[in-house]
Amino acid sequence: MKKLIYFHGFGSSAASGTIKMLREKLNDFEVIAPDIPVDPTEALPFLKELCQREQPDVIAGTSMGGMYAQQMSGFYRICVNPAFYMSKTSKVLKVGTFEFFKPRLDGIKEFTITDDIIRHFAEMESKQFDGVTSEDCEKVWGMFGDNDSQVNCEDVFSRYYHHVVHFHGEHRLDEKAIDEILIVLIRQLALKQNNWDKVMKIANELETKIESAKATKDIYFPWKDVLHSMREYPEKVRVSETVCPICGKKCLEIYFSSPDWTWHNLCGRAGTMNICTDCIKQVDFHLELMN
Ligand SMILES: [Zn+2]
Repeated sequence: MKKLIYFHGFGSSAASGTIKMLREKLNDFEVIAPDIPVDPTEALPFLKELCQREQPDVIAGTSMGGMYAQQMSGFYRICVNPAFYMSKTSKVLKVGTFEFFKPRLDGIKEFTITDDIIRHFAEMESKQFDGVTSEDCEKVWGMFGDNDSQVNCEDVFSRYYHHVVHFHGEHRLDEKAIDEILIVLIRQLALKQNNWDKVMKIANELETKIESAKATKDIYFPWKDVLHSMREYPEKVRVSETVCPICGKKCLEIYFSSPDWTWHNLCGRAGTMNICTDCIKQVDFHLELMN
């Protein structure tokens, strides 16, 4: 069974309506939804430990939950309208005692925000993007509502990540956005996760092989882009029926998509490619998409 961990927003709980909907619609997934501690010095280690223990296929979070999801390095994750700067911009994070929007699993009905808690948010926020790697960059998606008037952190997100999805909607997810965007994306990412370890091993070995081959021969083919495509579309990498004409071994079939700049310049190309990882050779390419 596939596994999803969902992080709720500020002042909410594991009883949120979004979680109820996700459980109904993803009935082939185990959906784990924790109550998130109010103080980030408790919440962050608690959520990291939970993810390490559960090893989910996908993590999704909304608003404050999206901010926490971003920090769960190594996993596929979706940040829905992430609120990266709760301490600065949130109208809700202020000193006082408040009621949770929905009952918590532990039955607690109220929470208190202190100056210390707000300071803890500020301290965590200043470090939240430390250590983002290029490999990890392929595993993070941002989902932004076009009418989100409460929080808009798309600019900040785009400084670190390039997978951005827009949806028609506000700060809170509605059923249409859950059905048409979030559920679809969760399923796509779970498929990627399925192949991720295997494909990363192949891609890393191939990269090493290419680097050492460069010393003795000229390599003109854009292998950098091939490796990038493998890491971006691990769900499409498989052993091919096509055989390498040089060594006779079965090829590796991958989905190749030329770099972002080629699409911006109307010379983008994408399609199925067969490569021989032993001979470091492109065997064939079936163009499926161009602009
Ligand atoms: Zn070969």
